[in-house]
Amino acid sequence: MVSPKPIMDFAAANQRQRAFFQSGATRSVTFRRAQLERLAGALGRHEAALLSALQADLGKSLSQGYASEFGLVQMEIRHALRNLRRWAAPKRCRTPWFVAPARGWVQSEPFGIVLILGPWNYPVQLLVSPLVSAIAAGNCAVLKPSELAPRTAKAITELIHDCFDEPYVTIVNGGADVAEALLRERFDKIFFTGSTRVGRLVMAAAAKHLTPVTLELGGKCPAIVCADATVALAARRIAWGKFMNAGQTCVAPDFVLVAREARDPFVTAMKKALQEFYGDDPAQCNDYGRIVNPVHFERLVHYLSEGKAIHGGWHDAKNLFIAPTILAAVSPDAAVMQEEIFGPILPVLEFDTLDEALALLRDRPTPLALYVFTRDRATEGRVLANVRSGGACVNDVVSHMIGAELPFGGLGASGMGSYHGRAGFEAFSHPRAVLRRATWLDTSFRYPPERLSLGGLKRAMKLLLGD
Ligand code: NAD
Repeated sequence: MVSPKPIMDFAAANQRQRAFFQSGATRSVTFRRAQLERLAGALGRHEAALLSALQADLGKSLSQGYASEFGLVQMEIRHALRNLRRWAAPKRCRTPWFVAPARGWVQSEPFGIVLILGPWNYPVQLLVSPLVSAIAAGNCAVLKPSELAPRTAKAITELIHDCFDEPYVTIVNGGADVAEALLRERFDKIFFTGSTRVGRLVMAAAAKHLTPVTLELGGKCPAIVCADATVALAARRIAWGKFMNAGQTCVAPDFVLVAREARDPFVTAMKKALQEFYGDDPAQCNDYGRIVNPVHFERLVHYLSEGKAIHGGWHDAKNLFIAPTILAAVSPDAAVMQEEIFGPILPVLEFDTLDEALALLRDRPTPLALYVFTRDRATEGRVLANVRSGGACVNDVVSHMIGAELPFGGLGASGMGSYHGRAGFEAFSHPRAVLRRATWLDTSFRYPPERLSLGGLKRAMKLLLGD
């Protein structure tokens, strides 16, 4: 077990990191690239330990751990190495001729010392990918993995110790008390991935130091399956995104709204997909995960009583196993339709008209992702225009967050800010505007005393500023 108590004097550690940052060591792109290469090398050496820790904590098969965590981090590193010089290069901007002759540009500045707090469900990816962006942007970092995936936290700690010296990247282990103690220190940026409830606490703590935050939070991601959708494909894709990691995925479809005429074929196709994916007994299937702990297990089992399990529904507390479950006859007011499920239970509700489906979603907290299955561009447009979300997929689920090209993040209750690839670099950088003015010319009209009437000034400014 990782120690639950603070193991260092955070104020002193913060000072050491600040001194290191102020030495300027992290500023050059050459240094940052070298650290990313170092991290890639260390990940290679620690791959087996990390994958078996994921298996021990979350029942992830080695290939699942690789595909959904390890491989994505390596991809982020490769992408950053390919693009970093371009991202970090100053961007020229036009300046008004009012200040001519002058040159303007935006240069990306590292924030300084950044704090990255991670969750337990993808504990490698969601801690190390933000670190890749923080390093690329030239920061020092403090990492705190989730205490609920303790073997993975230990394996990541060994990775970081093997790779970086303490003043540059520090890793701290523990639970809420340790996170709260860390949050009392002043950081220059906080990057938090976790629940909406804790996200509020993190933002309140950050406000004391006016520290900017990126909040990657949760929520209920709806999937709408329209009457014209390719229903069997929709069922297969939703089943994949919902039941991977036993439903403990922030962008998993939380519930499905399906057009009434498509409901039966949809359910039949999903049952078939689940049988193909996990066999007759998912408890014996290597590719099916376990619930992280007894508290979450009990919470999820309670949801089963709020509808009729038309597939799955059985569970085993000893092994923290809940079968992939389709839940029918669920009221929109039930807790399972109000709280983030974060487990392998999929409520399926029918709608008669798209307006009815949109009305059900419109007043809910903004989800992290929205999924719509339709072959009609007008329907797709209506859904996207009427339901806000952090990200969205049309005719798929989850895929919008795989890869470094699309920014990934939430909106409203599901968070603020985004990352991955260039968006990650920008999340950890301050776009500093710089204007350098020539010294050989200094017109006197901006200096007192005023020479123009108000009308003359307005005409001159319109002419000079092009307003
Ligand atoms: P959590 O909010 O309980 O914990 C996240 C981190 O916050 C952990 O490191 C934890 O130790 C720390 N923490 C706990 N209590 C704290 C406190 N009082 N003050 C400060 N820090 C505290 O979340 P979780 O259970 O680890 O993860 C599940 C949640 O995360 C779900 O809601 C899920 O949707 C969300 N999530 C979001 C994303 C995303 O990318 N948007 C990704 C994964 C998970």
